[in-house]
Amino acid sequence: MKYDVIIIGGGPIGLNCAIEAKKAGLSYVILEKGVLVNSLYNFPTNMTFFSTSNLLEIGGVPFIAHNDKPTRREALEYFRRVQDSWDLEVHLYTEVKSMDHNGEVYQVETTKGMYKASNVIVATGFYDTPRMLNIPGEDLKKVKHFYDDPHPYVDQKVLVIGAANSACDVALETYYKGADVTMAIRESEIYPKVKYWIRPNIENRIKEGSIKAYFNTSVTAIRPNEVVLQTADGQVVLENDFVLAMTGYMPNYQLFESLGIPVSTDEYRIPLHNEKTLETELSGVYVAGVINAGMQTSKLFIENTRVHSRLIVQSILSKKNSVVGV
Ligand code: FAD
Repeated sequence: MKYDVIIIGGGPIGLNCAIEAKKAGLSYVILEKGVLVNSLYNFPTNMTFFSTSNLLEIGGVPFIAHNDKPTRREALEYFRRVQDSWDLEVHLYTEVKSMDHNGEVYQVETTKGMYKASNVIVATGFYDTPRMLNIPGEDLKKVKHFYDDPHPYVDQKVLVIGAANSACDVALETYYKGADVTMAIRESEIYPKVKYWIRPNIENRIKEGSIKAYFNTSVTAIRPNEVVLQTADGQVVLENDFVLAMTGYMPNYQLFESLGIPVSTDEYRIPLHNEKTLETELSGVYVAGVINAGMQTSKLFIENTRVHSRLIVQSILSKKNSVVGV
């Protein structure tokens, strides 16, 4: 079967694109490498969204949460209900590997066979690819780039690397559960854009010495029982059981390459696209969701990319109509 649209990625924005395609009467399928809303499923177990639930709503399905900001569990249930109520066609555990074009049709190669479509929307997010430290010992099992739950860190000496939202959340949560927490922070302060309800808490814990923090510091090596920090005052070696490297994430650039989507050559490495239609340099191939900001991963969110689906489907329809008109 040849679809009008293949959507790569079953995150909130991929689902939203599918809803818009369905509303427009286009045939579509979502190809998702993991579970439904896989990134959200892999978020920390106890996380709370910073957006209020109404700003995460898609497809006109109301998102009722217990508090103004929903939890991960509530979000998983919400997006499951969205998929169910719109009866969206999602092929799970189907990873896209590469894409080819024969002049008319895109052929998308997946772990479960070949799919064909006239248009492709890439909405693959950024949560699969951590920004690596590239230091000795980073491959040790005690180093985590994805944080899940505080329980394993009870009574353990934990080094949290980073000073943005995730790092602050993780430092606080593990500290409250009895871990001995130290933060290694490259800058001279906690990231100024940390959410206003988190920042005073982490700053006060650091001030009172409950959480230790080394500012202007980079981690230079990780060993089975210790970590080596390069501070402004010289090298410091600390006893250590776990390293939680909360250094951020980035889009999967290898995938862009396999799909044939060029990216900007500046530091932002944005997949090149038309800002009005979100079409890339490949005709009929679009980008949607947080990947559109490339390495600037704190610029786009669910709430400000929900509009992408409408722009893309309008562009697909206008091309289709102009072909019919001819
Ligand atoms: P994603 O949700 O990342 O979805 C991309 C999907 O593509 C994934 O399911 C992935 O498995 C799939 N995929 C990737 N590669 C392939 C492949 N090769 N083949 C098939 N499928 C593939 N945003 C907000 O608006 N509000 C918040 O409160 C908020 N809180 C956040 C908290 C944390 C801890 C983090 C990390 C992010 C938060 N964000 C928040 C940002 C949020 O993650 C994104 O806005 C949202 O997940 C982006 O949606 P998306 O659909 O663009 O990408």
